[in-house]
Amino acid sequence: MDDEIRERAEAEAEANALFNALKHDSDAQVGAIMGPLMGENPDFREYGDQLAGVVAPVVERVNGMSTEEKRDRLGELAPERLEELDSEDESEEYDLPGLPNADDYDEVRMRAAPNPNGPWHIGHARMPSVIGRYKERYDGSFLVRFDDTDPETKRPDLDAYDAILDDIDYLGFEPDEVIRASDRLETYYDHARELIEMGGAYTCTCPQEAFSELKNSGEACEHREKDHEQTLAEFEAMVDGEYSAGEIVLRVRTDIEHKNPALRDWVAFRMIDTPHPREEAADYRCWPMLDFQSGIDDHLTGVTHIIRGIDLQDSAKRQGFVYDYFGWEYPEVIHWGHVQVDAYDVSMSTSSIKELIEAGELDGWEDPRARRSRACGAGASAARPSSTRWRDSVPRVATSTSRCRRCTPPTAS
Ligand SMILES: [Zn+2]
Repeated sequence: MDDEIRERAEAEAEANALFNALKHDSDAQVGAIMGPLMGENPDFREYGDQLAGVVAPVVERVNGMSTEEKRDRLGELAPERLEELDSEDESEEYDLPGLPNADDYDEVRMRAAPNPNGPWHIGHARMPSVIGRYKERYDGSFLVRFDDTDPETKRPDLDAYDAILDDIDYLGFEPDEVIRASDRLETYYDHARELIEMGGAYTCTCPQEAFSELKNSGEACEHREKDHEQTLAEFEAMVDGEYSAGEIVLRVRTDIEHKNPALRDWVAFRMIDTPHPREEAADYRCWPMLDFQSGIDDHLTGVTHIIRGIDLQDSAKRQGFVYDYFGWEYPEVIHWGHVQVDAYDVSMSTSSIKELIEAGELDGWEDPRARRSRACGAGASAARPSSTRWRDSVPRVATSTSRCRRCTPPTAS
């Protein structure tokens, strides 16, 4: 083997070893490199028996390099192969599953519905990233809706509204519309009134424990059969703030013997004495529960596809009762199990981080351990899901046959 052949063989072997090691994220193997090397370079074949001796030290050297060094070196030796690697990564990134029945809708419309009760950590980045990707893929539209209707236990943080929008912008996505649920109380009240008139809801003053006991044994409370005029009058008194927290709720009349007790006559509205931190919403005391508010909003804002955690499976079922009363068709639901965001295990909730900060275990939201989406420097590519799997998807809940045409999606309020 002359020097010219040896040099070419070393360079070819090195490029192959780098490519294989990077592609499989593991050590390159001499055996795996010999075949392609001789296949692509027929003039090496006559030196077959010496070639392994040339390749082995090259492979050993490559396996001693860091990923960064391997990439740099491959870029020098064979830039086109580095590009090939990167484009393979790219196509895997785009490997989100198709949305169900996307062709049935004029426009795919999805929403991220953050609770602005604190700034985001990196786990929150997956929702807008995935929705942003779908928006690109289907040329759809992306709504951000702040589900800020719990002024007490999930009290909104006034700075979080803008911080969350900044984070979405930072991730490289632009919402088409932004709304706040706390601006829409009158809309929820109107729908509650309509529901009451249809016999779909009743006011209940049972103490919580007493009601639970009845409910768990599949029995109705004494309030269930009252006439709807009385319910309406009591609901108006709730709206006017004439009750205090815990005194009364408005329940959706579902199926008191439903096999899943969580779906039996659930609470749609309750009283909260603590004023909302937003001045515009500070006078309201009668607040919708999340299932009622988000169910109404998804329909009114024309959301076609919802992505949500498997833990919220009951939400769709609860809301299904309201959709049936109104004759609405439930949006398509995709449940996700767990979207891996690089090495981060995304288990921290905003409230658990808040607790750690308050306990002094974290130095505030900018502490990288809080994994706030920006504190850890996650840019668009880092936060984009590298693999996505829908572990489960649930059939439509409502039984109506067509999408409601009576309600036109509102513009931003
Ligand atoms: Zn009752």
